[in-house]
Amino acid sequence: MSAPQLVWFRNDLRLADHAAIRAAAAAGPVALLYVFDEVTPGGSLGSWAMGAAQRWWLHHSLTALARDIAAHGGRLLLRRGAAGVIVPQVAREIGAAAVHVLHHVEPWAAVQEAAIKADLGADLPLNRYDGAFLIRPSQVRQDNGAPYKVFTPWWRRAQRQLPPPPPRPAPMMQFHAGGKSDDLDSWNLLPRTPDWSGGFGIWTPGEAGAAARLKAFLDVAAGYDVARNLPSQEGTSRLSPHLAMGEISIASVWHTIADVLPAAAAEPFLRELGWRDFAANMLEIFPDHADAPGRPGFELAWRDAPADLSAWQRGETGYPIVDAGMRQLWATGWMHNRVRMIAASFLTKHLLIDWRLGERWFWDCLVDADLGANAMGWQWVMGSGAESAPFYRIFAPVTQSAKFGAAAYIRRWVPELAGMDDSSIHAPWEASPLLRSAAGVRLGSTYPLPIVDHAAGRARALAAHAAMKAADEG
Ligand SMILES: Cc1cc2nc3c(=O)[nH]c(=O)nc-3n(C[C@H](O)[C@H](O)[C@H](O)COP(=O)(O)OP(=O)(O)OC[C@H]3O[C@@H](n4cnc5c(N)ncnc54)[C@H](O)[C@@H]3O)c2cc1C
Repeated sequence: MSAPQLVWFRNDLRLADHAAIRAAAAAGPVALLYVFDEVTPGGSLGSWAMGAAQRWWLHHSLTALARDIAAHGGRLLLRRGAAGVIVPQVAREIGAAAVHVLHHVEPWAAVQEAAIKADLGADLPLNRYDGAFLIRPSQVRQDNGAPYKVFTPWWRRAQRQLPPPPPRPAPMMQFHAGGKSDDLDSWNLLPRTPDWSGGFGIWTPGEAGAAARLKAFLDVAAGYDVARNLPSQEGTSRLSPHLAMGEISIASVWHTIADVLPAAAAEPFLRELGWRDFAANMLEIFPDHADAPGRPGFELAWRDAPADLSAWQRGETGYPIVDAGMRQLWATGWMHNRVRMIAASFLTKHLLIDWRLGERWFWDCLVDADLGANAMGWQWVMGSGAESAPFYRIFAPVTQSAKFGAAAYIRRWVPELAGMDDSSIHAPWEASPLLRSAAGVRLGSTYPLPIVDHAAGRARALAAHAAMKAADEG
């Protein structure tokens, strides 16, 4: 029998359309390994170890993957530690002929790979394959070879290389029986006390859960272009946590939508998938995108305001749309995209708090936490990224909330305002005392007064921006 082939899973926890598994299975019996590596990201690259919400997801995703592998007759090996040490160790333990892995762009991926290659030497190759993105990010370049830093020209160019290859099913596999494995429970990925994960029951982590979510989205996909901006509706796919953990390939999402919808109806959704690739592109160009502004020197005189930060985190700012979003995030590990933009703008502009504190909170709370997408989202809203909205574009929470029909969304997540009518729920402090009292709302008691006045917060942010520019030019 030929020597075993070691497949090393990263955030690509699936069996279907996984090029590393296909290549390994074609070469010999496979051993399938996941390494929980909190060490490499916590080293010289800043502390971007997996956040609490995603650890919950990982636990359930690995449970599902192990079950799926068992159904094929195999076993998932689980190990914890620096992947740069563990992968060569397991490769030697089982006498592997090669290691197979998908290409990822987080800065720690390259550090892990360099350590593995240095350890294994030339005799035991580390083979990398595409499949985590629509297109390998480094393959979308301008004629002169320079990378793109703005989405629209990047997207135009990327389309020359799209669609991605059609997805392939999981291959027939023979399994190598050896290899030691940790017990998943010993990793303590789930919250203990208090257990904040009660609202996470809306999710079904794993490959089957991802496929079911995509199937459910098909019912509403034709209306995506309009509905995606309306937080009160379930108009988006909610595939992000599945995609972040790689439980479904981006190519299969692309082809499913492109097959069922006419081209013009599919385009808005396919373009959003493009944003995911673009975030990876930005992370390759700016490996420190999560920690440093894409526009060098874009540092405002941030306020050190722990009480305001805490009010934002807890969903007690007095702005219903912001509070609804922050509570949805805490309860379910996910927040609607439009509300992410409003909440991020509120923190960085109205409260003038460093975007990195918000980014960290999202990282810890999001089940779809993705280093590149999170950094790009924050920098886009903030105006500090190479691809950004201008700083002076400050989302007006009340206007946005009314414009995008968020009343039902607010009622769902801020139940103390449920008695307010559709027009006054966005700004309860502007409603008449009579109306508030009929709705059972006592400002400052049952629901907070706004922690900052919109016009004053806006003016303070613009002044801080002007001061930064003046200092730059001076
Ligand atoms: C401040 C901020 C932080 C964010 N942090 C993250 C994050 O950590 N992880 C993450 O996946 N997305 C992040 N996003 C992008 C976006 O909010 C989510 O991808 C989207 O809300 C996920 O919901 P969905 O799956 O229903 O999206 P859909 O609208 O159904 O889109 C389909 C898929 O396209 C991709 N996508 C859509 N919009 C974007 C975008 N703007 N950037 C990158 N990919 C996109 C996602 O993979 C998504 O699942 C952030 C946005 C902002 C403004």
